[in-house]
This record gives sequence, C-alpha cells and structure tokens, in this order.
Amino acid sequence: MSRLPDSHIGYIGLGADGRPIERYYGWNPFGFGCSNCHDGICGTRGVKCWASQLAKRMKCPQCRAFVPHFHAERLEQPLHTKAPGIALVGFQSDIGDEGRAMEDVFRVLEATGRADHHTYVFLTQQPEHLAWVCKEWTVTAMPNWWWGLTVHDQEDFDAKWPAFRRIPGHKWVSHEPAQGPVDWAPALADESVTGIIIGHDRNRGAKGTEDWDRLYECQGVWIRAGRMSYLKQQWAWDGRFVKADGTDPADCLPWSLPPEATR
Ligand code: SF4
Ligand SMILES: [Zn+2]
Repeated sequence: MSRLPDSHIGYIGLGADGRPIERYYGWNPFGFGCSNCHDGICGTRGVKCWASQLAKRMKCPQCRAFVPHFHAERLEQPLHTKAPGIALVGFQSDIGDEGRAMEDVFRVLEATGRADHHTYVFLTQQPEHLAWVCKEWTVTAMPNWWWGLTVHDQEDFDAKWPAFRRIPGHKWVSHEPAQGPVDWAPALADESVTGIIIGHDRNRGAKGTEDWDRLYECQGVWIRAGRMSYLKQQWAWDGRFVKADGTDPADCLPWSLPPEATR
C-alpha cells in the first residue's frame, strides 16, 4: 500500500485557529516532466525550472528525461492515506501540460473524488489545455479543489487569465517569481479567486529581485480587496511560523485556506 509522502514545498497554511496546518502531502501521479522545459529553463517566462534539476535524482527513466508521462500506480495514494491533509498535486510537472493525455488528467480528478477527505491544490502555467479538458469532460468543480495559476508579470497575466478564469471552482494565484507589476483587477473581480502567494525572484540579479515596495503594494491590493495574501519572505520558522519581525501569525493576514478547506 503506497501512501502520500510529506511535501517539503514551502506553502504554508494557517488553520482557523491561527496555527500552521501540519499535514502537507506531495502527490505526483504525473511524476517529473513537462514539455514546457527547455534545457532546464521554463519556456513560459525564462525562469529556472527547479523540478527538472530534482528529476535527475529519480529512478524512473521518464522522470529523469523530464517528459510528460503518467504514474497510474500512484492514483490511489490519497485513498490509502487516512490522515486528512492538503495534497499539492503534480508540482513537479504541470497538470495543464499540452503534452498530457486528457484521460490522465481526468483519472487524477476522479481519484480525488474517491479520497475526498483531503484538500487538493493544483498549480499550472498552462491553463489553456486545462480549461479545454474541463470543458470537454464537463468537469464539475469540487469544493476541495484549489486551482492555482502562476503569473510573473502583466504580459503573463494577460496571456493566461482568459483561459484560467474558465476553469470551474476555487482559484488562487502564485505570483512567484514576481517579475513585474500586474493589474489584478480582473482577478479580484472574480469571486472564485480567493488569494495570492507572492514570492520574489531569488536569483541574484534577476528581473524584479529587489523591488520589495512593489511586492508590499501587491500584497496590499489583495488585502484591501478582502482576499488572502501571503508574501513568502515575511515568514520565518522559529519552532513555529512567525513573521520575520517576530510578530504573531494571528496578527496579520497570511495565505491561508479557509476553515472549510481544512476539515
Ligand atoms: S511549467 Fe513548471 S514544470 Fe514546466 S518547465 Fe515551467 S516551471 Fe518547470
Ligand atoms: Zn516517472
């Protein structure tokens, strides 16, 4: 029986009681692989693809080759994992990959229905294909699905938003690495968009690396619109999560899944 492994990706959630959510799982039915990767660089905005670096350590030859493929033997991992948690789905690939068989996406969505005691967080850079799959299969949104879109700057937002908004269900935005200002008005006008995670570009000398004022302003736009907003580098680990200036997490408005998502 194969269970979900712990996720070591640093998406931090606070539960309704203000304490960190402890059970984050990684679920990779798509293994490692993405047709958007070219020599270790993401084709979307020219940023380094960390997943392609990690893939070199994998046993599976297709994972090592970093091509889209499917690990059907992992489909029931959420079902065999009894402790409810938040499963980050396919963060080492892209569920919206145009090179991915539509049936495989659907089999993954079906598997979430057989294990609906978990919350599922998805993230894509390629919403066009995903929106098409959802339309073709007349996918009905589940309350425990959270669709994420990576957006780097305005041009990126303009290209991706029209397709992403057609995906049914709760949505959120990952603005990481943040490479330029974005007018978020269309996203904030959409009630299905619940929040944003903001992270600066940590590559030294990269576009937007030191533009902290812009990141704080971005965070403020989402907070003023009443949405969840989490600026990654504000947080530190000190036996528990604290703001980098030492204040208590409960005193600020971090990224968090709402209470109903953290049953
Ligand atoms: S979309 Fe994600 S997995 Fe694919 S190349 Fe870009 S960063 Fe890597
Ligand atoms: Zn593989």
